[in-house]
Amino acid sequence: MKKAAAYLFSLIVILTLMLPAFLVRSCQAPQQQESSAISVKLYDTQAHALYRLTLEDYLVGVVAAEMPANFHLEALKAQAVAARTFTVKRLKCFGGKGSKYHPNADLSCDPGEGQAWLGEKELRTKWGMRYGTNLARIRQAVTETASLLLTYEGKPIEAIYHSTCGGVTEAAVEVWGKDYPYLRSVVCGADGHSPKYRQTYRFTIQEAAAKLKVKAFQGKAITASTQGSGILKMVGQSNTGRAQQIIFAGKKITAEQFRTALGLNSPRIRYNVSGKNLVITTIGYGHGVGLCQYGCDGWAQKGYSFSRILQHYYPGTTLVKIANQIP
Ligand SMILES: [Zn+2]
Repeated sequence: MKKAAAYLFSLIVILTLMLPAFLVRSCQAPQQQESSAISVKLYDTQAHALYRLTLEDYLVGVVAAEMPANFHLEALKAQAVAARTFTVKRLKCFGGKGSKYHPNADLSCDPGEGQAWLGEKELRTKWGMRYGTNLARIRQAVTETASLLLTYEGKPIEAIYHSTCGGVTEAAVEVWGKDYPYLRSVVCGADGHSPKYRQTYRFTIQEAAAKLKVKAFQGKAITASTQGSGILKMVGQSNTGRAQQIIFAGKKITAEQFRTALGLNSPRIRYNVSGKNLVITTIGYGHGVGLCQYGCDGWAQKGYSFSRILQHYYPGTTLVKIANQIP
């Protein structure tokens, strides 16, 4: 009986160790594939449907959803490469963990789970008369970078991107506590044309307290001891001015919780407390890590190629063809 149990245990261990290799092999010898032959299983959270698309067709919907179609072509191309790299890391047949929305899906169109995606119907509504022209531009960006991936030490990178960094990008370690050699803080300086570069919000302290669920303030008058600049403090500020934590009236929360609760564009804030009012100015839009989309457009307008832009935001990485990259 003991022998049988030991045999069963060994079998389970061997199967567990071999499973990832088996899964990769079941993905049709990817080293011989062009990226057009790689498929993506996408879950549409609006239509509640699972689609199977080629990688390149899927990327058209991602670039169209993630970047304004009138951005410079080199910016659209940089976005296409970042999105392709981001996607490949998440495909289940290459070891990705898949989408939480459907057991068979690699990704979903929920931007909160990774990256946005829009289908033909949504794009016709979004673009109207410019549908044909815009789609042609996006397709050109995807086609002209077909099969290109960003790698670091021979492996596809975590090609994180965001809308507007606000002048300088954030190191991944400052935001998520995990360090990546190619996701460091770099000077951007080309995203000043973003409509969300800087935004000002005004709250009464009572309003902010209610949103942040600071009970001591709810329905009570503010006392002298709770007024003044001491009511809000930033803890563990990075070089870019992003706080790790924020203390509001004695309650300590993460900068991300603070941003979400108050509906702010970014956790990089400047603030001013005046009497019963709190004025907050946010810098940038999004987490600030990796490629800055508006900065990307800014650099492209200055004459930078997509590959040079990618080198800037993901330092130390190399562009390779997907067929030579996937093990
Ligand atoms: Zn930027």
